[in-house]
Amino acid sequence: MALMITDECINCDVCEPECPNEAISMGPEIYVIDPNKCTECIGHFDTPQCVEVCPVECIPKNPDHVESEDDLMAKFHKLQDQG
Ligand code: SF4
Ligand code: SF4
Repeated sequence: MALMITDECINCDVCEPECPNEAISMGPEIYVIDPNKCTECIGHFDTPQCVEVCPVECIPKNPDHVESEDDLMAKFHKLQDQG
């Protein structure tokens, strides 16, 4: 599953530069994750880097984007191909 940022986000800015897929950006009020780019860091790291650094633990799995590890790996390869 892609991850998502909840409204508990305090806009601390630390997650955005950590994302290897550039999936995190500032939204209208808080940071948002593009589900088409988030692989849960699969292909890059063993753990989701944004979750590692978030001080308020506001980055759960996105229930609207159910994906298996194979799906996430396929997304990783697709993103690599897109450069
Ligand atoms: S889990 Fe990884 S790929 Fe997904 S938004 Fe967080 S840092 Fe980016
Ligand atoms: S690390 Fe957490 S609190 Fe900070 S901007 Fe990212 S989602 Fe928001």
